[in-house]
Amino acid sequence: MTDVEVIIVGAGPTGLMLAAELRLAGASPLVLERRPEQGKTPKAHGLSGQILDLLKYRGLLDRVHEALTEHVPAHRFPFGGVHVDLTRFEEPPLKAVPLRQQTLERLLEDHATGLGAEVRRGHEVTGVSQDGESVTAEVRGPDGPYQVTARYLVGCDGGRSPIRALAGIPFPGTTYPEVNWIGQVSIPEGLTVHDDGDIETPELGRIKAGFTRTDAGVFALGSLTPGILFIQTTEDDAGEVDDDMPMTLTELGDSIRRVLGADVPLGDPVRLSRYQFSARQAERYREGRILLAGDAAHLLPSTGTAINVGMSDSVNLAWKLAAELQGRAPEGLLDTYHAERHAAGARALVQSQAQVALRRGHDEAAEALRTVFQELLDDEQAARRLSAHVAGTDLRYPAPGSGHALAGTFVPDFALETDEGTTSVGELLRSARPVLLDLAGRPELRDLAEGAGVDVRTAKADDRPADVLLIRPDGYVAWAGDTDADADGLREALSAWFGG
Ligand SMILES: Cc1cc2nc3c(=O)[nH]c(=O)nc-3n(C[C@H](O)[C@H](O)[C@H](O)COP(=O)(O)OP(=O)(O)OC[C@H]3O[C@@H](n4cnc5c(N)ncnc54)[C@H](O)[C@@H]3O)c2cc1C
Repeated sequence: MTDVEVIIVGAGPTGLMLAAELRLAGASPLVLERRPEQGKTPKAHGLSGQILDLLKYRGLLDRVHEALTEHVPAHRFPFGGVHVDLTRFEEPPLKAVPLRQQTLERLLEDHATGLGAEVRRGHEVTGVSQDGESVTAEVRGPDGPYQVTARYLVGCDGGRSPIRALAGIPFPGTTYPEVNWIGQVSIPEGLTVHDDGDIETPELGRIKAGFTRTDAGVFALGSLTPGILFIQTTEDDAGEVDDDMPMTLTELGDSIRRVLGADVPLGDPVRLSRYQFSARQAERYREGRILLAGDAAHLLPSTGTAINVGMSDSVNLAWKLAAELQGRAPEGLLDTYHAERHAAGARALVQSQAQVALRRGHDEAAEALRTVFQELLDDEQAARRLSAHVAGTDLRYPAPGSGHALAGTFVPDFALETDEGTTSVGELLRSARPVLLDLAGRPELRDLAEGAGVDVRTAKADDRPADVLLIRPDGYVAWAGDTDADADGLREALSAWFGG
């Protein structure tokens, strides 16, 4: 008998999302977080990609929008020094919201504790051991050291992950020498802002909005909020920095001087942060009863997408872990977590490292590469494809038993007419239960799913993308079929995912 079912180490976005998803799946997690209160250093400024669709399905997107203090900016994003303009799309292929990480964490913590998860702050995990039955965490809490046992432990403890080290999982990759300083500052006296976003200072003259490259690095200028300048400097070789140390306005000013050769007047800071990029991935996401998720499992060398990948790890892991705990998981289900999410992390690293190559060079050849890339992105299809890669919406997991185009992809949302009224695919997924959705009256397929413990729903839909869909709790289509769909394929899928 263990104290709890799952110990989650770390109350960042990954750990808190995992806690909530485990509760939805009927498991009891305990979150142990070493910080007595939420970290004050600003980190993420935005949340983007596939996870926004999942949050909508779980009924959380409205809470995200209520929590926004800034307007949602036009859909443009920097891809390694190249601007990708998505304003021409009615439905942007990459969605993003300017949600601060601290706000996201508060929202997720409320959601997880509201569902019954326990979060202990000021409790640091200092050691881990495991055997065939359980895993034991050594914890240093406010009242002294203690032990907790669980069936599984998940390290959601960030890029420096002590759990990864304790489990002996290698974390190969690169830490890049470039350091980025970011500041959002008010507009001070002595600085003119032109209508096109360029600024002008007495010492430097006019500095254009966008990127200015010098031998010492890059100065990027923009504005997300009226009256506030967004400034980022990137220096090629500025030594190691500690992400956890609060940044100062003087640091930003010093970096600007090193890059541009003179001072730029800066107003009051609204937000300051700095970071150094790494491209690393854990060799394994599972070692026995210990699993890794989020930054503990992967570090991406670009901004804006890491939380999407980390929270998506949690959504993928939770239902599989719960099935394992509840004794209903088919053989090998938990190992599909590594198979699917390691591949997803590796793919995220590809787009992220491509950004490093695109932004790095300062010579004419590098400039030519950026120009060619920028021209290619004028093409709608290229912009869509790149956006899907960055968002993680182009992922396709293996889907035994079905060769349908939707099988293995994230299920699209569409309206459904049922005997009880109008609903949608997203609403069916609110409770994170697996669903067989019959849109064409196939009772023999419904019977199979019912026997496997899957929720069964019949509905009608205009322009249905398939006749029957078997949807996993994480929103991925496990199996899809049209009129010629055979029961054997569905049987294979039910047995692979739900043991039916
Ligand atoms: C300046 C900056 C800007 C960024 N901007 C963006 C952005 O715009 N969009 C985006 O998607 N990403 C962004 N990121 C990346 C994003 O912050 C991370 O990807 C995210 O924090 C990872 O979440 P996580 O939950 O996996 O890990 P973390 O947020 O690092 O959380 C890990 C938690 O584990 C705790 N912990 C560690 N060791 C222990 C232990 N032994 N016992 C108990 N608790 C422990 C830590 O205290 C911490 O709270 C940015 C990062 C930085 C630094």
